[in-house]
Amino acid sequence: MKKISIVVPCYNEEESLPLFYDEVNKITEQMKKKCEFEFVFVNDGSKDHTLEELRKLAKKDKRVRYISFSRNFGKEAGMLAGLEHATGDYITTMDADLQDPPALLEEMFDTLEAGEYDCCATKSTNRKGYSFLRKTFTKWFYSIIGKISKIEMVPGARDFRLMTRQMVDAIISMREYNRYSKGLFSFVGFQTKWIDFEIEDRQAGVSKFNFWKLFSYAIEGIVAFSTSPLVFAALVGIIFCIIAFIMIIFIIIKTLVWGDPVGGWPSMVCIMFLVGGIQLFCTGIIGEYLAKTYLETKHRPIYIIKETEKDIRK
Ligand code: UDP
Ligand code: MG
Repeated sequence: MKKISIVVPCYNEEESLPLFYDEVNKITEQMKKKCEFEFVFVNDGSKDHTLEELRKLAKKDKRVRYISFSRNFGKEAGMLAGLEHATGDYITTMDADLQDPPALLEEMFDTLEAGEYDCCATKSTNRKGYSFLRKTFTKWFYSIIGKISKIEMVPGARDFRLMTRQMVDAIISMREYNRYSKGLFSFVGFQTKWIDFEIEDRQAGVSKFNFWKLFSYAIEGIVAFSTSPLVFAALVGIIFCIIAFIMIIFIIIKTLVWGDPVGGWPSMVCIMFLVGGIQLFCTGIIGEYLAKTYLETKHRPIYIIKETEKDIRK
């Protein structure tokens, strides 16, 4: 019988976890004739009682495994740890807040079993429960990255997807420190089927992604999957050189024909500010890539484990 591993990164999810477990348990009961299940919860340095909840679940249900980090390493690190520790033939990543409907698992499983696809992914058709600002920026992000990256990013794509062992092995073989999963999923290729669903509000607890966290995550995605901003910096430089060249010729001719009355200091200052600003902006873009390269070269561990279910089952 095939085994499905359910990878769930959790950060301060003490309220959601029991609900999540009960809900998914209904589905595993429903599918028990078809396949086995394994839960791989990743406690991403939660400050509430998430770890206690996980210990309770692991004691009650031997299918439940967990990995607890030494501190908060972020959702991406949590997903990687889960994927690396999952032992199933098919592996799915899900959020703990039930925004990803477990009921879709059966359809996803059947799709992969049919053999044509390596992955069955989900995307939400709406963005219920998210602020106007977040919706607008998300739309901009997808339209920008769609234009500047060769990797296809599907708008509204969730991290909720069921993948074959082969595809997961390809994903975990990429050990980059700055991880942007939506890009990595797409990078590895394989046949993906998309399912649409209407997203619901979080069942309990609060969202862990505020505006700035998402903003820097978006920058991470762009830097990780496109070098176009660097080309943009170079282009701006070239355009300014051309403008400066035309202006020099203009000024030389003007001086030769009409003489040189000194003037235009205010406009000079404005131009200095503009050019200085653009230079700093372009240096910033280069700096962003340099910073990511710097972090990659250190080869720091992406996560550090403090405890797993094996520790309490001894
Ligand atoms: N999460 C995590 N580490 C973090 C932030 C979030 O493991 O540093 C988990 C969180 O517990 C949840 C999932 O990532 O299971 C998605 O987070 P959330 O629902 O808060 O994000 P949103 O739906 O608002 O984008
Ligand atoms: Mg959520």
